[in-house]
Amino acid sequence: MSRFSDQAVESSLGPWFFVMLADMPLVGSRTVFEYDAAAWVSRTDPDVAEALATCPVCNDADTSSLTDAVTAFIDDRTINDKKITKRTLSSCWVGNPHGVPALVMHRTLAGALGADLDDRWLLGEVRDPDGGLIDDLISAVDREPLSQYGAASSRTRCRYRSNWAKSIGSVSVGACAHCGRLSENIGYETYLLESEVADYGTVRAAGCGLYVAKSIVDRLELYTPAVWPNLRISRVPVYTQVLDPFAVPKPMRWEDFERHEASMGNTLPFPMIHGKKGVKPVWEKRYAADREARGLDTTPPRTDEERIAFYLRLRSFWEPAVGEQLAGVDDKELLRLVRHGRKHSRDAPMESWIGIERTASRRRK
Ligand SMILES: [Zn+2]
Repeated sequence: MSRFSDQAVESSLGPWFFVMLADMPLVGSRTVFEYDAAAWVSRTDPDVAEALATCPVCNDADTSSLTDAVTAFIDDRTINDKKITKRTLSSCWVGNPHGVPALVMHRTLAGALGADLDDRWLLGEVRDPDGGLIDDLISAVDREPLSQYGAASSRTRCRYRSNWAKSIGSVSVGACAHCGRLSENIGYETYLLESEVADYGTVRAAGCGLYVAKSIVDRLELYTPAVWPNLRISRVPVYTQVLDPFAVPKPMRWEDFERHEASMGNTLPFPMIHGKKGVKPVWEKRYAADREARGLDTTPPRTDEERIAFYLRLRSFWEPAVGEQLAGVDDKELLRLVRHGRKHSRDAPMESWIGIERTASRRRK
């Protein structure tokens, strides 16, 4: 039996549109980029991150209880190390300056959106590294965003090529080991669900841009490059029925996802553990290179235990908590932990099998 509909019926609300900058030249002035052997780390502006209750691992924020606007600080040089001029700012309509976990918006766009930026939005200041006001830009935080800065939870949905119950690996799902927020990929069409957008205004924040209703695109002529140079716009259908494997409303945390899967009779390991299909090639390459350099076996996993161990090793590339926990744990010991975990705590999250307790998370209303 199919778990979700294959029938894409567009809502009478009409489509929405995702708008972002084709080229974002700005960098947060309090951002630090680092690289070490295991992972890239880009630290976000600590004050903004704290104000938005940003998770230190996945960078996902929780803006729902925020009451005051935040101040965003941007560098006086662009990402290509050019001086920022009035002209640079003139087409920075909306986006995340690298390292600022909030949106920055041009006053011209904010003015044109007018009352569509309703009272869920908190609009604040943008300043240069010396604290000088940058008058052309404002900071903009949505307290009910469709998706957040960071890698994880999102109300945007993805349609999949096949039912994952039939085709293991057609969906890849993961979670932040620190906060438990859900992440997914490998969908082939982004869409929004009518019941998840119908009651919440016409402008919603997305990670690096905005989702807007068609009425706004038409009114502001957002399709016209002469009016909005450097703006990239794409159509996002709104469907009446869910076309992905997730519950409604969409789970934002791994524990909700697991509960939903359990209600469908599915237990670990879920299809996400299918290493070959569900994992980005970059992580596999790095895994192989890292192990070759250390003279370790790179044979692809065969058994379920080996797949789980392989997936945990991969996760250590993007989840520092997993990396710390697995440092110094050899393959034999890891397989032993996995076997023990599957046998004795089959329903517990797999990171608990290597001794990671998920932090109690603040829940959204
Ligand atoms: Zn997190």
